[in-house]
Amino acid sequence: MKEVDILIKNGAILTMDPNKTIIAKGFLCIQGDAISAIGNGDPSEMRTGKTIDAKGGLILPGLVNGHTHAAMSLFRGLADDLPLMEWLNHYIFPVESRMDREFVRTGTLLACAEMILSGTTTFCDMYLFEEEVAEAAQTAGMRCLVGEVLYDFPSPNYGPIEEGLKYTESLIRKWQGHPLVSVAVEPHAVYTCSPDLLIAANGLAKHYGVPLIIHVAESASEIEEVRRKYGKKPFEHLESLGVLGPHLIADHCVHVDDVEIRRMANHGVKAITNPESNMKLASGISPVPRLLAQGITVGLGTDGCASNNNLDLFEEMDTTAKVHKVAAMDPTVLDAWTVLNMATSSGAKALGMEDRIGSLEVGKKADVIVVDTHKPHLTPMYNPYSHLVYAAKGNDVSHCVVNGMLVMQDRKLLTLELQAVLHKAKEMSQKVLSWLSWPLPS
Ligand SMILES: [Zn+2]
Repeated sequence: MKEVDILIKNGAILTMDPNKTIIAKGFLCIQGDAISAIGNGDPSEMRTGKTIDAKGGLILPGLVNGHTHAAMSLFRGLADDLPLMEWLNHYIFPVESRMDREFVRTGTLLACAEMILSGTTTFCDMYLFEEEVAEAAQTAGMRCLVGEVLYDFPSPNYGPIEEGLKYTESLIRKWQGHPLVSVAVEPHAVYTCSPDLLIAANGLAKHYGVPLIIHVAESASEIEEVRRKYGKKPFEHLESLGVLGPHLIADHCVHVDDVEIRRMANHGVKAITNPESNMKLASGISPVPRLLAQGITVGLGTDGCASNNNLDLFEEMDTTAKVHKVAAMDPTVLDAWTVLNMATSSGAKALGMEDRIGSLEVGKKADVIVVDTHKPHLTPMYNPYSHLVYAAKGNDVSHCVVNGMLVMQDRKLLTLELQAVLHKAKEMSQKVLSWLSWPLPS
C-alpha cells in the first residue's frame, strides 16, 4: 500500500500553475517536504500519517507576503491618521531607536501567528535585528526571506554601516541552505543610502547570489529629494550605479513614469506592490497594470502593520483589485485571477523562489492552505478566484502546511503557543508607551 505523510482530500484544487489548472474535486499528497501527488476524485487506498478533509473547500498554494516589517505588529494602531513626517518623527523613529532583540522577536512571533492564521506561508522581511526574525520564523515554521535594513545612519542593532554589511554577510553565511530561511541584502531606500552603500550592498548580494531588496519611488517627496540630490529619477539613479538587474526586488514603485517602468522591465527588476500601506500613508497608487503590461513580475505585500494595519493578504488582494479599477475607471483592470497570482505564483517568482513554491505541482515544496467555503459569505460559489479575492477573509483559512509541516489545523496553531505570544506582545506595548516622549494622538 502507498504511504504518504499528509493527504489533503475532498477539495477543489487551484494549482495556480501556468495552465491555470483547477481540479474540481481532488486530493493532494505530501511526502516529506514536497508535494508527491495531485489527483482527481478520491485517492486510492493509502497509508497516511495525517489526513485532512477539505470538506468541499478550496486547496491552494500558501500565500506569499512580498514585503513586511513583521515586528511592527507591535506598533499597530499606535498613531494613525497623521501626516507622514509627524508619524515617523514623533512615534515610529523614537520607538525604533529603543528597540532590542527581544522586542523584534516578540513582534515577529505575533506577526507569524497572524500570517499563518490568514493563510500566508512565506514572507519577505526588512527590519532591524533580522537574526531574531529568522529565528522566530523558524520557530513558527514559516518560510521567509529576511534582510537587515541598511542605511547611512547608525543602527540600534549593528552600529555603523560597515558593521551592517558584516552583519548581513554573517546572516547569509549562517542560514545558507536552510530549508525555510533565506537571506537578502536590504538597503532601505535611495534617499537613505549613499551611492557607496548601494554599490557595496549590491556587490555583497551579487557575491553570494542573493536578492537585493530596496524601497523605491514610494512617495512624491522621495522623487523630489532624489532629483535634488542626484538630478535623476530613482531607477535612473540606481541604473547609473549599476545596481539594476533581475536580482533586484523593488518595494512600492508608486511614482514611476513610463521611462522608469521601461527601465525596470529592461533590467528584469521585480516589483512588490503594497496598496493598503500606500493608501493609508496617502503615498499614491502604483501603476501595477502598466508594470504587468511591460512583463514585470509583480508580487503583493502588506508592508508593516503600522501602515496597513494588518497582515491579511486576503484583504490586500481585495483592495488591490478594487483600487486599480477605480484608478483606471475600468472594472476589467486586474481581474481576480491576476491578483491571486500576485499573491501566489508571481509573488514567489518576485522573491526568486518560483522553482520551490507559488503553485501546487508535484515536486514543489508543500506550502498549501485549505479555505473553508462552508460559510454564508462564500455560498454559493460560481468562481473560486472571485471568492478568494472579493469575498474570503484570512480567517476562512482552516489549515496551513509549510514545507510539508502542518502549522495550523482547524484554525489551531500547532507551532506557536498563541496565548503566550499575545501575552508577551501586550507586555511589550507597555515598553512602547514608556519610550514615547510625545503624547498619543487623541
Ligand atoms: Zn516597507
